[in-house]
Amino acid sequence: MSITAYPYLLSPLDLGFTTLKNRVIMGSMHTGLEDRFYHYGKLAAFYRERARGGVGLIVTGGISPNRQGWLLPFGGTLNFAGDVPNHRRVTRAVHEEGGKILLQILHAGRYGYQPLVVSASNLKSPISPFKPKALDESGIEKTIAAYVRCARLARRAGYDGVEVMGSEGYLLNQFLCARTNRRTDRWGGPIENRMRLAVEIVRRIRAAVGPDFIIMFRHSVLDLVEGGNTWDEIVHTAQALEEAGATILNTGYGWHEARIPTIVTSVPRAAFASIAARLKQAVRIPVVASNRINMPDDAERLLAEGQADLMSMARPFLADPDWVNKAQAGQADRINTCIACNQACLDHTFANRRASCLVNPRACHETELVYRPTSRQRRIAVVGAGPAGLSAATVAAQRGHAVTLFDAQDRIGGQFNTAMRIPGKEEFAETIRYFGRQLALLGVDLRLGARVTREELLAGGYDDVIVATGVTMRRPRIEGIDHPKVLTYLDVLRGGAPVGANVAIVGAGGIGFDTAEFLMHAAAPLQTQPRPQPVDAWMAEWGVDPHVATPGGLAPPHPVTPARRIWLLQRKTTRPGAGLGKTTGWVHRATLQRHGVTMLAGVQYERIDDAGLHMTVGGERRVLDVDNVVICAGQESLAELMPPEGARGGPAFHKIGGAALAAELDAKRAIREGAELAARL
Ligand code: FAD
Ligand code: NAP
Ligand code: SF4
Repeated sequence: MSITAYPYLLSPLDLGFTTLKNRVIMGSMHTGLEDRFYHYGKLAAFYRERARGGVGLIVTGGISPNRQGWLLPFGGTLNFAGDVPNHRRVTRAVHEEGGKILLQILHAGRYGYQPLVVSASNLKSPISPFKPKALDESGIEKTIAAYVRCARLARRAGYDGVEVMGSEGYLLNQFLCARTNRRTDRWGGPIENRMRLAVEIVRRIRAAVGPDFIIMFRHSVLDLVEGGNTWDEIVHTAQALEEAGATILNTGYGWHEARIPTIVTSVPRAAFASIAARLKQAVRIPVVASNRINMPDDAERLLAEGQADLMSMARPFLADPDWVNKAQAGQADRINTCIACNQACLDHTFANRRASCLVNPRACHETELVYRPTSRQRRIAVVGAGPAGLSAATVAAQRGHAVTLFDAQDRIGGQFNTAMRIPGKEEFAETIRYFGRQLALLGVDLRLGARVTREELLAGGYDDVIVATGVTMRRPRIEGIDHPKVLTYLDVLRGGAPVGANVAIVGAGGIGFDTAEFLMHAAAPLQTQPRPQPVDAWMAEWGVDPHVATPGGLAPPHPVTPARRIWLLQRKTTRPGAGLGKTTGWVHRATLQRHGVTMLAGVQYERIDDAGLHMTVGGERRVLDVDNVVICAGQESLAELMPPEGARGGPAFHKIGGAALAAELDAKRAIREGAELAARL
C-alpha cells in the first residue's frame, strides 16, 4: 500500500482479468448530453476531466437497450452499429486519461415518459402518466436479446464493461418485486421467478461478451416501497447474479416513487452503508457502497471497516472532477464538496435540462465555461463574499487577476452562514470551507469587517469592481409590523432571538420552509456548529428498517416531538412549497406535515397586535394567538455601490447574484454568474 491518508480508498482492486486503480467509482448520472449525437464531444470532455481527476471506474448515464426502454422519447440508445462511433469518442477520452468506463444499460420500464412503455404487469407508476403494456413471453425474449446486443456493442465501442441497472424501480426492479410483478407465468410469483429476467440478462451477457468484460449489476437492496423485497429475497437474487457471471454488485436504495428520501442533503452521510456491508457478507464478488458518500474520510472509514469493497459517488464528481487527485495528494480540504442540494443536477434532469452543479457551474459545460489564464492582469475589487462574490473572486484569481475581496461581516459565506444552521443543511458549511481554502491558495487579498463605500472603490485604482453585495430582507407593509412579537428570519437564524411556543411564519418560500424546520427543533446555541442527525435517528424518523426484515424495508415512522406549534403562511392560493426544488420540495413538505406544521395558502394579513396575527383565509377572519410572527417575505437587491446611470470614468462596475436581481435568486445562479463574469474579464 502506498503512503497516503487514504490507503484503502486508493488501493487497486484486482478483478482477475483487469485491475481498477483505486476503489472510487463515479456512479451513473444522466447529464442530458447522452441523448443527442451532436453532444458527444461535450460528453467526452465531461468524462475526460473526471478520468484525468483520478476516478478508478466511471459509469455512464443510463443508455437504453431499445426504444421501449427509453426514459424520454428519443433518449440515448445503443442498439445499432451506427451508434458505436459516438460512444468511441467517450471511451477514447477516458482511456487516454488512464481511466476505465462502463456503459450503464438502463431500461426504464414503467418509469418511461413515453407511450411505448412496457413492464412486468400493466400497472401505471405514480410518476409517469403512461400505462405500461405487460411484456409477453416473446417480448421478454426480445428484451433480453436487446440487453445482450447493447452489451456487445458497448464492448465494440471500447467500454470496459457494462452496468446493468436493476434498482431505483426501473424495469428489472419492476420484475423483481411483487409490487409491480403480478404475473403468474415463469417470470412472476416466487422470487425464483421474479428474479429470472435479471439473472438471465446477466447470464446471457456474460456468454456473449466473454470472461474479460466487467458486468456490474446495480442491485436494489432497500426498495423503500410497499411490496418491495425482503432481505432473504435480496440475498437470494444477489447470489444468483453472482452465479450468472456478475463481476461486481453495486447497491441501490429506494425506488423513484418511494416517499423516503435517499440522496437529499438531509439524509445523513453514508446512511445506507450498513446495508451494503450485510450484502458483502452474503456474496464473494466485490460490493459497492453508494448514496450520500461525498468526502474521502467517510469513504476511507467504510472501506477500512470492511463495509464494502468500492465506493460509488456520482454527484461529488459533478462538484469536483479532481476529487480523487486531491485525496491522493492529501488535500481533501481543497475538495469542492457536493452539498446534495440537487438544484443543478437532478432538478435539471427531471426538467429535461442539461445537468450541471450548483457549486461547480463548469460541470457538463467543460467546453463552454473555460477559465483561461489571462494575458493582461487586471486589478479587481469584489464587494461581498457571499456565493456570488466568492465564485467571482476565485475564478478571477485562478485566471491570474489581482483580486481584493471585501465583506462587511467578519466571515466569508454571506447567506450560506445562515443556511448551514438549518437542521439537515449542515453540508452548506463545506462550500464556505472550500472557498475559504481557495482564497488562501490563490492569494486573494481578503478584507473582512470592511463595509466599503463607492468613494473607497473609486479611489482604489481598480480596473473592475464586482458588486456582489446580495440582498436586504423585504419588510411587508402589515399593520403592526413593528410590534415586539415580530421577528425576521435573520433575528431567529443568526441573531438567536428567543421564539415562543406558538409561532406564525409570514412567507412560505424556501426560507420560510427552512425557518419552520429550524423552529421545529430546539435551536442550537449560535456558537455551536450544527450537527447532522445520526443515521439511526434519521431512519427511525422516516421509518426505515435497516435490517430489511419487512418488504421494502419499511417501518412505522417516528417523528420527533416538535419544539413549537407552527403556522406557515402565504398569500398565493397555490400549494405551499410548490416553488421548491422538484426532487427536494416533497421532502420539505413531508417533514413539516409529519411534524404538525399547519400550512395555509390564500392568506390576507390584516394586522399584528398583542392578540396575535389577524388574517383572512378563504373569506373567514381568524386570529392566530401566537407568541411571535417571523417574517420570511423575500428580499430586495442591495446594489447601492453601483454608480449612477451615465457616470463616466473610473473602474468598470458589474453586478452579480442578489445584487443584480433578487427575484428567484438562489446560490446556483449566484455562483454561476460570478464564474461566468470572471471567466470573461
Ligand atoms: P449574499 O449571500 O447575500 O452575500 C452578500 C454579501 O455581501 C454578504 O456577505 C454581505 O455581508 C456583503 N456586503 C453587503 N454590502 C456590503 C458592503 N457595502 N461592503 C462589504 N460587504 C458587503 N440558496 C440555494 O440555492 N439553496 C438553498 O438551499 C438555500 N437555502 C438558504 C437558506 C437560508 C436560511 C438562506 C438565508 C438562504 C438560502 N439560500 C439558498 C439563498 C442563498 O444563500 C442566496 O441565494 C445566496 O447566498 C446569494 O448569494 P449572493 O452572493 O448574491 O449574496
Ligand atoms: P421566496 O422564495 O421568493 O419567498 C418569499 C415568500 O414571501 C413567498 O412565500 C411570498 O409568498 C412571500 N411574500 C413576498 N412578498 C410578500 C409581502 N409583501 N408580504 C407578505 N409575503 C410576501 O424567497 P425566500 O424564501 O426568501 O428565499 C430566497 C431565495 O433563496 C429563493 O429564491 C430560494 O430559491 C432560495 N432558497 C432556496 C432553498 C431551497 O431549498 N432550494 C431554500 C431557501 C432559500 P406570497 O407572495 O404568496 O405571500
Ligand atoms: Fe451536488 Fe448540488 Fe452540485 Fe448536484 S447541484 S452535484 S447535489 S452540489
